[in-house]
Amino acid sequence: MKTKLGLLYGGKSAEHSVSLQTALAVIKALDLEKFEIHPIYINTEGRWIKGPELTGPVDNVKALEFCPEDSLTPAALALAIFQAADQEQASLDVVFPLLHGPNGEDGTVQGLLELLNLPYVGNGVLASAAGMDKVLMKNIFAQAGLAQVNYVAFIKREWDKARESAYEKVEAELGYPCFVKPANLGSSVGISKCRNREELEAAFEEAFQFDRKVIIEEGVIAREIEVGVLGNDEPECSVAGEIVPKKDFYDYKAKYEDGNTALIIPADITEAEYRELKEMAVQAFKALDCSGLVRADFFLTKEGKLLINEVNTMPGFTPFSMFPLLWKHTGVEYPQLIERLVELAKERHDEKQ
Ligand code: ADP
Ligand code: MG
Ligand code: MG
Repeated sequence: MKTKLGLLYGGKSAEHSVSLQTALAVIKALDLEKFEIHPIYINTEGRWIKGPELTGPVDNVKALEFCPEDSLTPAALALAIFQAADQEQASLDVVFPLLHGPNGEDGTVQGLLELLNLPYVGNGVLASAAGMDKVLMKNIFAQAGLAQVNYVAFIKREWDKARESAYEKVEAELGYPCFVKPANLGSSVGISKCRNREELEAAFEEAFQFDRKVIIEEGVIAREIEVGVLGNDEPECSVAGEIVPKKDFYDYKAKYEDGNTALIIPADITEAEYRELKEMAVQAFKALDCSGLVRADFFLTKEGKLLINEVNTMPGFTPFSMFPLLWKHTGVEYPQLIERLVELAKERHDEKQ
C-alpha cells in the first residue's frame, strides 16, 4: 500500500516562493512506487487549494500553483478532508507541512492537523509555538541551563509608555552592539543590528512593525555553527556546518537572494566543541519537547564558548538548504531524509493513540 502523503506548501509568509521550491524538490525526490502525493497549495491570500493527486513528475513550481477559483478557507478544506476520512475514502496517511514562519511553523497548522487526527511531519503544537517565539524559547533554554546571549524583551505597550527607560535598560544590561528582533518571526525579517542610540530607536520602530513583542540581545562576535537534529524520543545529530555570511550578519537578503553565503560542511571545529554542540542541541530539543526535526543554531565565540542562538522547528528544506545538506554529509540522502521524517511522524502519532 502506498503512503498517501499530503504536501502543504506556499502560504502567506515571506517564504512563500521558497516553500514552492521545497515542494517541487520533495515531489521530485519521492519514490512514486511508495508514495501517492496529494498537494495542497496555500496561496498568498491564505486560501487552501487541494490539487489533483500527482502520479507523475512535476517540472516547475507553476504547475504547483493551483487555480484560485477552487480555493477554500483552511477550515473548509479541513472539513472536506475530515469528511473524506469519515467515509474511509481517500484521506491522507501523513501530512508534511513544508511551511516556514507564522501560520506554518508556529503550531497553528499543527493544531489543525491534530484536530483532524492526521499524522504530520515535524514538531507538535507546543514545540512549534515555543520555537517561534524567541522570548519564550530563550526563557526555556535558560531554565534548561543552556548558555546563550543576554537578552531583554518588551511588548509594544511598555515601550510606548516609557521609551526612554526601555532604551536605558537595553544600554545598561546589554550595551552596543545589540540586535533587535521581532519575537515571532524568522528569516531575519525585521532584525537590526544597533551600534548606538539612534539605531536602537529606529530598530525598535522597525521590529514593532512586525510584532507586538520584541527581543533585544547582546551582540556577539562569533562564528555561526549549525547542527541538524532528527528523531523523536531519541534524537540524533548530524555533522556540524558553518554559515559564513558575506555581509554584516545573516539577513534576509543573504539567506534568500544573494545566494553567496558560504556553507561549510563539516564545520572546522574541534572534537570537543562538536561533542558539546551535540549535547546542547539534544538538550534544546528535549527542553522544547521537539519531535521529528530541528536545526539548532549556535554562536561559537573566539574564546571557544558555545552559545545557543535558536532552534528552527521547520528549517529550510530545499536540497541546497543547510538541514538537508548536513544530513547528506552525515550519510542520509534527501529522499531517505524525507522517508525518515514520514516514519517519525507515523511513529509519534501511533504512540499517542
Ligand atoms: P532568524 O530566526 O530570523 O534566523 P536569528 O536570531 O537567527 O533570527 O538572527 C539572524 C541572524 O542575525 C543570525 O544568523 C546572525 O547572523 C545575526 N544575529 C542574531 N542575533 C545575534 C547576536 N545576538 N549576536 C550576533 N549576531 C546575531
Ligand atoms: Mg529562526
Ligand atoms: Mg536564524
